[in-house]
Amino acid sequence: MSHVDEIINQLTTTHITQIQTHLLEWYRQNRRDLPWRREKDPYKIWVSEVMLQQTRVETVIPYFQRFMKHFPTLSDLAAASEEEVLKEWEGLGYYSRIRNLHAAVKEVQAKYDGHVPAQKEDISQLKGVGPYTAGAVLSIAYGQPEPAVDGNVMRVFSRWYMIEDDIAQMKTRKAMERIASRLIPPEAPGDFNQALMELGATVCLPTSPCCLLCPVQEECRALATGKQTEFPRKKKKKPPRKQQVVFFMLLHEKSILVERRPKKGLLSNMWALPTIEIVEGSKSEVVMKDWLQKQGLVIKERQEIAKFEHIFSHRHWYISLQVADCSTMDTPLNEQLHWWPIEKFSQVAKASVYRKAF
Ligand code: SF4
Repeated sequence: MSHVDEIINQLTTTHITQIQTHLLEWYRQNRRDLPWRREKDPYKIWVSEVMLQQTRVETVIPYFQRFMKHFPTLSDLAAASEEEVLKEWEGLGYYSRIRNLHAAVKEVQAKYDGHVPAQKEDISQLKGVGPYTAGAVLSIAYGQPEPAVDGNVMRVFSRWYMIEDDIAQMKTRKAMERIASRLIPPEAPGDFNQALMELGATVCLPTSPCCLLCPVQEECRALATGKQTEFPRKKKKKPPRKQQVVFFMLLHEKSILVERRPKKGLLSNMWALPTIEIVEGSKSEVVMKDWLQKQGLVIKERQEIAKFEHIFSHRHWYISLQVADCSTMDTPLNEQLHWWPIEKFSQVAKASVYRKAF
């Protein structure tokens, strides 16, 4: 029997009732007034949950409000072009989230007449909808007793029950979902899930949990043994891979050369400045010269006007921003490259690393 199965077997009715009562009471008195909590529209809850993945609440609020102004209903979002949608997402990062959401919303519009499905099997099949998002929408919007276990909830559970398993592993998340399923009160699943998340986000903080303010301190094994900050257990992530990169800002009169990023991988399909990754051991001067030659581009003087860094989840870019005037824009280009009026590039949705450069 696994450690988590033992924990689940040991959950007594008294413990479950106390957790439910204390947590719900605390949540109803202390919850933050967040825009997506004001109604139970499954579309709005879905969008907010996607935005909140890897992003702080304070950052999400203005984006969510702006997004809802532009796309107040699921049908509005389904009918919008990719450019429009990306523009409203610009700056939030992790662009695959919005691409998946847009694709899924279109599917809901076509297949379910614009109604977010309330069946677990149906919603779980939509692009980008994992167990957490499905659980959040089903419990909050539809009142179904489905778990919604995010990083905050995993931290809380690992402290309550002193769970030694690595929370980065899928099987640990699944085990935590089993614990949550046992704890959820069928009469208030949405509030209970949100209470758990809220506790993790505002009280059971990663480095300094505010145990004195915690509504469930009597139930917490880590507090009883003074080991709160030893949980959750998590293997250290590898640091992002370092990479030298050149951004080319190639100009011809009022035009700029822009590049469509590859269909797969980092910042896929986004509009960008031509970007050259310098492979370790090669000389950037040579690589830049080769690249220009390969594209048939002839430049006048080239100048490095800035150096800066940008960290993605798996990459750390050290960027050299090079500016040059191109002699001509008549050369045929490969299909990823385009000459655009500078104004057009300044307006199109760009990843923040390119906005920084621009
Ligand atoms: Fe977290 Fe402290 Fe509450 Fe335990 S008592 S759940 S460590 S805030």
